[in-house]
Amino acid sequence: MYEQNFYNLEYNELKKHLSEFNLSEKAASMRANQIWKFVYKKGVGNPDNFINLPLELINKIKTKIDFNKISIEEKKASRDGTIKWLFKLNDGNLIETVYIPFGKTGTLCVSSQVGCTLNCKFCHTGTQMIVKNLETTEIIQQVLLAKDELTDWSKEKKIRNIVYMGMGEPLYNFNNVKKSIEILKNVDGLEFGPKRITISTAGIVPEILSASKEIKTCLAVSLHAPTDEIREKIMPINKKYKLKALIDSCRKYAEMNKEKIFLEYVLLKDINDTKYCAQKLIKLMGGFPCKLNLIEFNVWPGAGFEPSSKEKVSEFYNTIKESGHVVTLRKSKGNDILGACGQLKTESKKISKKLDN
Ligand code: SF4
Repeated sequence: MYEQNFYNLEYNELKKHLSEFNLSEKAASMRANQIWKFVYKKGVGNPDNFINLPLELINKIKTKIDFNKISIEEKKASRDGTIKWLFKLNDGNLIETVYIPFGKTGTLCVSSQVGCTLNCKFCHTGTQMIVKNLETTEIIQQVLLAKDELTDWSKEKKIRNIVYMGMGEPLYNFNNVKKSIEILKNVDGLEFGPKRITISTAGIVPEILSASKEIKTCLAVSLHAPTDEIREKIMPINKKYKLKALIDSCRKYAEMNKEKIFLEYVLLKDINDTKYCAQKLIKLMGGFPCKLNLIEFNVWPGAGFEPSSKEKVSEFYNTIKESGHVVTLRKSKGNDILGACGQLKTESKKISKKLDN
């Protein structure tokens, strides 16, 4: 019976485990460094291939630490190069991970929960009741498997950015997300700088404040409406955390981390794409350092919304741009494989609806 799963361990925890194998502190430190580099720099996940470790130590590691990974249930590649994997966890639950290429490099979008409790009306994941928070290992393994699949183990990384924008609300799985980020950042391993990692939240105000002190990556907020009235209709979480409190927490996050906040805004026909909304949004953006990402709505089966027309999208974009704020229009990718923003959903069954929120 394994005592630990490797991908749940931070570097210091690995060192501590190794010191329990009768190694001196110095030897445990050296071996931890070697193993960490094998796994996270070279993509070697089988202890039998830790070639410069003594056989006796390899055998001990193999009996105590589990290196088995989750498996690929399905893989879909879009015409535009986007790849979506359906991963099967060891408990049978399914999660989705998406690689979005931009030229030779790209961004990996990882899931943090199976399903989501927040039920944003325009989001496919939100129609899937929460099943569970992902463990640290299940988050890290999404990155490792994607790197294996993309043969991304050379110095020139293909996956340049990691975004926690897949299934789930990452700040409702705070501890596991935080730990996974520590592993991603480790310079002897995967070495993703904090500016290469983005956490996307629907606006969980207390956790945004905690994340500003404890996580310190880039932050994206799913805003999607400039007034409480409209936001509450499409994002029920706004009933709990109003826009004013959300903006205050974003301001503090930006101050602490010296980075602008990304505001995500899906344009929905006749809901949030009016001139009135654009003007309200300009005012709201004046309150803190931020940049706006306008997103075309990706229709999914049964979605009760329509995308804004091309004319409306460019009118909205131009209004914001002319106000002097930074705005980008994100071209939708992976649409044909339901791998685009807000389209992720698996068929995992509900075990418990309420987690730590
Ligand atoms: S948009 Fe994000 S927070 Fe809202 S339901 Fe979808 S996954 Fe959950």
